[in-house]
Amino acid sequence: MNVDLLIKNGTVVNAEECFRGDVAVKDGKIVAVGHFDGGAGAGFARSVAGPGPSPVTGHADRPDGCPVGAGLGIHAAKVVDASGKYVLPGGIDAHTHMALPVGGTTSSDGYFTGTRAAACGGVTTIFDYPTQYRGRGIVESVRERRDMCAPEACVDYAFHCAVTDLGGGKTLDEFAAAVDYGVTSFKCYMVYKAAGLMVEDDALLRIMARAKEVGAITCVHAENAPLIDLNVERFKREGKTTPWYHYLSRDEDVEAEADKRAVHLAKTIGAPLYIVHMADEEGLLAARDAKLAGHDIFIETCPQYLAFTRDVYRREDGYLYVCSPPMKGEGSRRELWEAVRNGTIDTVATDHCPFMAHEKAWGKEDFTKSPNGCGGVENLYPYMLAAANAGEITFSRAVQLCASNPARIFGCTDKGSLRPGKDADIVIYDPGKAFTVSAGNTHSASDHTIWEGRTYKGYPVQTYVRGTLVYDDGEFVGEPGFGRYVRRAPHRWG
Ligand SMILES: [Zn+2]
Repeated sequence: MNVDLLIKNGTVVNAEECFRGDVAVKDGKIVAVGHFDGGAGAGFARSVAGPGPSPVTGHADRPDGCPVGAGLGIHAAKVVDASGKYVLPGGIDAHTHMALPVGGTTSSDGYFTGTRAAACGGVTTIFDYPTQYRGRGIVESVRERRDMCAPEACVDYAFHCAVTDLGGGKTLDEFAAAVDYGVTSFKCYMVYKAAGLMVEDDALLRIMARAKEVGAITCVHAENAPLIDLNVERFKREGKTTPWYHYLSRDEDVEAEADKRAVHLAKTIGAPLYIVHMADEEGLLAARDAKLAGHDIFIETCPQYLAFTRDVYRREDGYLYVCSPPMKGEGSRRELWEAVRNGTIDTVATDHCPFMAHEKAWGKEDFTKSPNGCGGVENLYPYMLAAANAGEITFSRAVQLCASNPARIFGCTDKGSLRPGKDADIVIYDPGKAFTVSAGNTHSASDHTIWEGRTYKGYPVQTYVRGTLVYDDGEFVGEPGFGRYVRRAPHRWG
């Protein structure tokens, strides 16, 4: 078989397995995974028998459906030696906000710089969140964003759609058309009433029920809006407006109430639910219990909730960390990590939504003036893979959280694993490479990062999107417009 690219001798990682092997790519697709002799200039070569004992798991795992075994010759136009490195499915960041209008400005990364940053961190597909504003249709809202994104995207992209208005039922009637368009997830903000984004419980229920009928899933941003309003009013009256009060106005109780309410509503009507950016212990445990009882409840968290606590809001530069929900106490952070390890948490995504430092500084003396959000798309895979490299989770678990689970939950049928027939979205990770994060050596358009100074042992060294190299050892080598729209498949929810 002639192939375009052969990545040889790496440790191939999928959600269920990890083995020493080679990955062959042709026309943007993975065509074979296994052990192959030869390569460029070697002519047709015979593959050896199936994968041997895995250096990682210590036993022989043979990937299902992989054409390994005698007689398979591979001749590659290009061979990459991945000895001593991990070969992983490209990351899928299921939660980003590019070019999002917020609080008098727009998030710093548009679709070009945002997807460039993604590529340089090993993320090969991003999910962006277009908003269906009052009086507008879902497909028209998504199409508008798709048109903006298409000429700029350096990696592949999909869209959830945030629904804000049922339009007297018209919006629900459009769900089937949205699914046909490839949008199989709808988001409800349980907050942001003043911004016109909030969805009340009656609308939330109808959205969850209709989404299930059309094979889609509802995502919720869960915080209790009246509690936030009450807290903010009180703190303002008392002159308590430093970033610490951003945390106190949206503390553990504020998030937990909404998490539990969303879980309860979804359970009651038997609809699937995906909770975005889970950050508190009480909500997490309620969602876990519903999962354990067999409900289709999925939980996402973000690296910032795993790495930081509310203590960041006491810092001089605490305003840079203002995001919603805010980082919580150490108890929540520890419980989130436990849930990452034991499988309770399904996905890790970033809620990437950076602003410039001077814009964040609007909230230095008054947290209500800060545009909410932090950057992170380039940091997702490095952060989770560093945890794997340090032995805190397995590499397969990192792949589940950052690639295979988001692909499965959101219907990206061609993505999320290194198997024949899948898109050749591939990351090569060097477990020995040292990297210190800084705004200067990362690729967001923002002028700062909350990850500044963080050191990693291990870092991605190459990223391929559909077989094309887009990131090579510190350098972005992709092209705007190369990324493609991912039309997602509906689910048949139980
Ligand atoms: Zn978000």
